[in-house]
Amino acid sequence: MSTHPEQSNDDGAMPHPELVAHDDADAIYRDGRRLDHAEAASRLLRSRPEKQPRGAKIHGNRPIDHAKAAARFIAAPEHEKMHDERLWDLRQKRDREMHGIAEWEELRSLASAIKEHTLTHLDAYLDQFEANARSNGIHVHWARDAAEHNRIVHGILTGHGAKSLIKSKSMLTEECAFRHYMASVGIEVIETDLGERIQQLDNEDPSHVVVPAVHKLRTDVAEVFARTIGTDPDNSDVHYLAEEQREANRPLILTADAGMTGANFVVAETGTFVVCTNEGNADLSANVPKLHIASIGIEKIIPRLEHLAVFIRLLSRSALGSPITQYTSHFRGPRAGGEMHVVLVDNGRSERLGMAEFWTSLKCIRCGACMNTCPVYRRSGGLSYGATYSGPIGLIIDPTFNARKYSNLPFASTLNGSCSNVCPVKINIHEQIYAWRRELVKQHEVPFAKKAAMKAAGALLSHPAAYRAAIAAADWALAHLPRFIIYNRLNAWGKHREVPHPPKQTFHSWYQANRGGKE
Ligand code: SF4
Repeated sequence: MSTHPEQSNDDGAMPHPELVAHDDADAIYRDGRRLDHAEAASRLLRSRPEKQPRGAKIHGNRPIDHAKAAARFIAAPEHEKMHDERLWDLRQKRDREMHGIAEWEELRSLASAIKEHTLTHLDAYLDQFEANARSNGIHVHWARDAAEHNRIVHGILTGHGAKSLIKSKSMLTEECAFRHYMASVGIEVIETDLGERIQQLDNEDPSHVVVPAVHKLRTDVAEVFARTIGTDPDNSDVHYLAEEQREANRPLILTADAGMTGANFVVAETGTFVVCTNEGNADLSANVPKLHIASIGIEKIIPRLEHLAVFIRLLSRSALGSPITQYTSHFRGPRAGGEMHVVLVDNGRSERLGMAEFWTSLKCIRCGACMNTCPVYRRSGGLSYGATYSGPIGLIIDPTFNARKYSNLPFASTLNGSCSNVCPVKINIHEQIYAWRRELVKQHEVPFAKKAAMKAAGALLSHPAAYRAAIAAADWALAHLPRFIIYNRLNAWGKHREVPHPPKQTFHSWYQANRGGKE
């Protein structure tokens, strides 16, 4: 591969040659043909594709074994490497955008203050939104939980004789297991977001709040499409796959009876809501059928339209490292001859608002920046969490739904604080994760072995003489024992990394020797 900035692009291979900058010094050529961005970014994969590792197994209310599922993901090196690199790339792009805005920290503080103010006056702003939305001609419904949400939407669809629904990506509907419910009542749901559609066809949940299929290689997508829409299983070209999926999905979109979106922001003073996408798929869902239903979590509200600018500037930069989403669509009321419904959903949010240590997690704008930066998430994949929300924010939210089932998740963190540093609404994520660990111990939701290990560590650390003796013994063992004993089955650290070499002198003995024994 080589670069030829002066070479013209006249071979007709580019989908839109009129959009190509001819003096692009960074253009990449292969076999004399200029590659477009996606092709150039693609790397050749092994001829025998690595099998996609699947996520955590769910057994009723039993605690999710994140570590086991993460080990499966790590054991698939192509997937792990790709996942780590793609998300770190997003993190770096986010950093570049952040450095381009001098007032970035002020924006974060402002966003945090607006959200905290709104959450502490939530009832008043929700009432204001409802009154204004109704006067805009929107039907407003309230759902206490997931089951009520699903029943309400089903009722609206049945009232219109709707049998098919196109929808854009919404984490709230994942919380409500909405697709499964609709399947059980005989209504076909078609996801319009490409990543979400891939996940739907593969019968998997999204693994990331912004890029739902980020854990898949393109060979995985080729396999899914071959199985479900009949594409060539040996062709994993990204353009071919995207085009075939578009061809398969468009007729379903054009003939759907109803459309559904979520919302990124809901404005109380105008009774309007805003949806941000990069594919324009929410606009298709909202505008092609005459019936538009928006499912919205009650925490999405902001008081005034002027506040929106703060969040719009932060959202896409934090999420994908791009200055703005391609589509920022405002919905004010039904189109002529159409009908618009908003379902405002609680589903545990009021309860979380009453949790002194965790209520600020409701500030989350679902940008995914904390996931992109988290070393555990990047290497274990979102599906290993076995929950609707994964990554650092998931470790806080998931146990609020079910402390027993998600009791292992708050331990899937190094507590390095990077998540809190990148969060555009300044949630103290790592501190809340730590608070969940304490809470789970209080609720007796920590396994006996972990509790015993922590107790032993606590005893050791509170007795300096015993601690030093243990360190000396460990150093001796590392230096003298054969490798097969050190790297045994129980040494989780040594499974993927080298154990550190013992230092010749501990800090304590150096201190004793060089500081005259004064402590
Ligand atoms: S917690 Fe913060 S960084 Fe993470 S998704 Fe929410 S807003 Fe983004």
